Amino acid sequence: MSRTRVPVVAGWFTGEGDGFRLLGTRCADCGSVFFPREDTACRNPGCGGQDLAEVPLSRRGRVWSYTDGRYRPPAPYVSDPERAWEPYTLVAVELAAERMVVLGQAAHGVTPAELAVGMEVEVTSGVLNEDAETTWMTWHFRPVVEEEAS
Ligand SMILES: [Zn+2]
Repeated sequence: MSRTRVPVVAGWFTGEGDGFRLLGTRCADCGSVFFPREDTACRNPGCGGQDLAEVPLSRRGRVWSYTDGRYRPPAPYVSDPERAWEPYTLVAVELAAERMVVLGQAAHGVTPAELAVGMEVEVTSGVLNEDAETTWMTWHFRPVVEEEAS
């Protein structure tokens, strides 16, 4: 049976495969980019702009910092008590063009031992949680594997 794939937060990301992108907003007046998206007013205290347009964020960035979660966090974190707790890796990624750092989980199976500050990573779609009917989609980061030049 197939589950319905639902974004865990509407409007924060779009696309599939190589077309997957996080979505932020950019201020038309000062050019500041926001993620999570800011749709009301520019948060640059020197700006005051209110014209914010949706923009896809860079697909690749560099590891700024990382850590792992080894214990089950309390509610409202979604966690099935019937299932064994699996440690996960959190990574903060610096996007050069947007001049910002975005936080996310590393792709399933990527451990801190495989990461290093400055390493190039890319955003990818990932599964946050699922039940019988629904798969909640989120974003993950994974190390960039360069194709062999031929
Ligand atoms: Zn602005």
